[in-house]
Amino acid sequence: MNESRPQSMSAFWMPFTNNRDFKANPRLLVSAEGMYYKDVDGNQVLDGTAGLWCVPCGHGQPKIVGAVREMIGQLDFAPTFQMGHPAAFDLAERLMDYTGHKFGHVFYTNSGSEAVDTALKIALAYHKARGEGSRTRLIGRERGYHGVGFGGLSVGGIGPNRKSFGPLLPGVDHLPHTHDLLKNAFSRGEPDFGVELADELERLVTLHDASTIAAVIIEPVSGSTGVLVPPKGYLKRLREICDKHGILLIFDEVITGFGRLTTPFATDYFDVEPDMMTTAKGLTNGVIPMGAVFSRRFIHDAFMEAPAGIELFHGYTYSGHPVACAAALATLEVFKEQQILDHAKAIQPYWEDAVHSLKGLPHVIDLRTIGLVAGIELEPIAGKPGARAYQAFKKAFAEGILIRTTGDIIALSPPLVLEKQHIDELFGKLTGVLNNLD
Ligand code: PLP
Repeated sequence: MNESRPQSMSAFWMPFTNNRDFKANPRLLVSAEGMYYKDVDGNQVLDGTAGLWCVPCGHGQPKIVGAVREMIGQLDFAPTFQMGHPAAFDLAERLMDYTGHKFGHVFYTNSGSEAVDTALKIALAYHKARGEGSRTRLIGRERGYHGVGFGGLSVGGIGPNRKSFGPLLPGVDHLPHTHDLLKNAFSRGEPDFGVELADELERLVTLHDASTIAAVIIEPVSGSTGVLVPPKGYLKRLREICDKHGILLIFDEVITGFGRLTTPFATDYFDVEPDMMTTAKGLTNGVIPMGAVFSRRFIHDAFMEAPAGIELFHGYTYSGHPVACAAALATLEVFKEQQILDHAKAIQPYWEDAVHSLKGLPHVIDLRTIGLVAGIELEPIAGKPGARAYQAFKKAFAEGILIRTTGDIIALSPPLVLEKQHIDELFGKLTGVLNNLD
């Protein structure tokens, strides 16, 4: 294993990174186990973000690592176009069990971005298959993140992610976001105010006409723009309006899936059923890239009524890659055997109290929690948006904790296997960091 510094860091064009700043002062991780990374200098770094929200079962999970090793030795690759391998089918059945059979079918991708673009394409093709080809409009939401494909970017609502890439997909509109610090600051779980923002969908239906709208896609809890929790009743109201107008509802569960809210998916937490659900990240515990689109039976059935032949002209070389399937099957087993969701539920109140104990620290203007997620919003430095939280991120790493920041919001999402001592360490060190910011 190479644990030394790279000879040059010039060639790797790093994603979503301030490359010049990073390369002047790099943070290099060389190994990981349980709740901790180790950096190139041998320092332990407590993982407050499950990597990028993607390691619910903790790092180096022996069962998952073992399953991957075994499958690579047995079947390094097998196509899933016009042929298959058993693990892809077994995994699909296990995933249906894991959703309590709310969904009937799953389409494999390799990432969250691909899952989103796949779901949007299925939505368009579904309406066309049923003779409603005029339904081509897609509705996203401000401050939504749906990855970086052109579909996901188009329905996404983050200005800096969109602004350099031209007009994006035509015929897309956006709901307003639901973040309201004046009314909802310092909430635990779903905030009280904002259900009426779902009625904005009625406004868009009036504007565009339902016959032009294919689908609404939202993150049940927005992660990448800083943990935006839906107001009480908001998701149910959206569901009702979609039903009324024949619009498909897609939940992007790339971060909320696989236990983040202490339930298998956000659909279980909020008791609202979407028509499709996009997932990735925790699906394989982050070990091997994989995404998946879950679809309710009626969507899949609409395609199966077409004349014999390929029903959906879509897929990826690595859809259902055997090694990814092995990792996902093992991840589901670990969830069950180690009762990870029960543990997450049991520790959640301790987590929530620890987050809200930061109230009153310098610059903290909001704390919000749901499941094992926290948003800590800092007052921006005048004229320098994002600078204060970025400073917190760098100081935190130097103190041995990994946090994630977006704008001036710190988003925390640890592996679900964390124990009280990890929560104490995380918030003890974070308190020190927050007390020492410009
Ligand atoms: N959708 C959501 C809600 C996400 O949070 C992300 C990534 O963070 C994505 C989609 C994109 O996933 P990926 O980076 O695997 O393409």
